[in-house]
Amino acid sequence: MALHFIANTAARSTSGQTLPVIDPANGETFDTLARGNATDIDAAVTAARHCLDTTWARFTAAERGRLLMKLSAKVAEHADELTALEQRDCGKPVKQARADALALVRYFEFYAGAGDKLHGETIPYLDGYSVLTWREPHGVTGHVIPWNYPMQIFGRSVGGALAAGNVCVVKPSEDACLSLLRVAALAAEVGFPAGAINIVTGYGHEVGDALARHPGIDHISFTGSPRVGTLIQQAAAERHCPVTLELGGKGPQILFDDADVDAALPFIVNAIVQNSGQTCSAGSRLLVQRGIYESALQRVGEAFTALRAGPPAMDLDLGPLIRQSQQDRVRGFLDQARADGIATVAQGRVADEAAASGFYAAPTLLRDVPVDHRLAQEEVFGPVLSGMAFDDEDDAVQLANATPFGLVAGVWTRDGARQFRMARRVRAGQVFVNNYGAGGGVELPFGGVKSSGHGREKGFEALYGFTTLKTVAFRHG
Ligand code: NAP
Ligand code: MG
Repeated sequence: MALHFIANTAARSTSGQTLPVIDPANGETFDTLARGNATDIDAAVTAARHCLDTTWARFTAAERGRLLMKLSAKVAEHADELTALEQRDCGKPVKQARADALALVRYFEFYAGAGDKLHGETIPYLDGYSVLTWREPHGVTGHVIPWNYPMQIFGRSVGGALAAGNVCVVKPSEDACLSLLRVAALAAEVGFPAGAINIVTGYGHEVGDALARHPGIDHISFTGSPRVGTLIQQAAAERHCPVTLELGGKGPQILFDDADVDAALPFIVNAIVQNSGQTCSAGSRLLVQRGIYESALQRVGEAFTALRAGPPAMDLDLGPLIRQSQQDRVRGFLDQARADGIATVAQGRVADEAAASGFYAAPTLLRDVPVDHRLAQEEVFGPVLSGMAFDDEDDAVQLANATPFGLVAGVWTRDGARQFRMARRVRAGQVFVNNYGAGGGVELPFGGVKSSGHGREKGFEALYGFTTLKTVAFRHG
């Protein structure tokens, strides 16, 4: 049974209740986990606060960095074990589960080296004054982690927060707890003091909600749906707690008629197939200039036809989706496409070895999706790519920006001036030119505009979000 991890100790839920842990490859329950509640969150926040005020406050930035570096090495040592856990818990093909474990290694490594470079400034002011700024940790930070990339999102969120001097209370998705509980235990082994990293498992509307409302939480990082992002921000607003929100996207891949289509093709396919399309930065819209629309769709379609979803251990192109409701959601989008006369260009297939009770979805390429259709506006969070034609640059910009989201965009063109113009005009937190990094780039600041959220994670920039700035003015004459 998986238990909470509070003050470096495995703990049952105070309610004694549990939840099933389900294998997405066959729908079977293979473990249980603690179903937490507000009392458990309170215990975690108390442990975190105690750690902050006693042990953690005495660690210098360099010492925190050294600990994170040890944790990075420890995770690397246990990469096989974490890969296997993630594969089972989340249905990820081996290569994806391993990539997540290695990204976690890299996040801890990156933030291990970054925390002691977080300098303040001196500011010229009045005669007889000296003014300087300090970057101080918020204190006890809350982290609500989704199920799509638990290890990666834990790494960027908790790694950055610890490096900046915070302590952490983490609420993973109830569908993806196992790897993170193991990582927290490894952190205790390498010497993180009790209370620096706490994990409380359970439902979002119970544990997540309690975390968002807890007066002892000084900052919240949330990654998930816009609906829950709004709830988190509303709860935090009651006590003016700062939040960083990463709420997904509807990433456009914009393919101009002068693009190197051979180079673009594998990126376009991977950006929607990776992790079965359950990626906030997935390239889920394919915008193609009209002159090459038919030929490009045909080529992407051929690639889709060759794709196979199957059991994680087979390590095919896609594994199952995370849970039944996610499979229902993807089916719902495709049923609606059919009912609305949207044509399918190509579909991959589900391998014969896949259990019928697993949550599989075949990758699907659609064409001529109207800009105002749900498929062009909402996150499917499955392997569904919506093709649309555009005429010129203005048209491409308009289409690219015509969703509530603005997270990541890809631009494919050989024209250098157009590359710059497009990068400026597309509203997104990240723009990739002649490449696309769905989920990638530990070093690259990441986050959205509009309904994709606000604040930045990853890279050095994230450390600013995990700190608050104090200005100190000395008058010395
Ligand atoms: P979700 O409900 O937003 O879940 C994200 C996280 O928030 C999970 O840890 C969840 O816990 C927690 N949560 C849920 N309700 C909460 C509440 N009232 N207060 C605090 N925390 C709460 O997302 P989902 O339902 O799993 O997925 C639905 C859709 O969200 C997807 O189809 C996709 O479009 C989008 N999504 C986006 C991302 C992203 O990376 N941006 C990630 C996941 C989902 P539990 O899972 O334990 O309930
Ligand atoms: Mg699971």
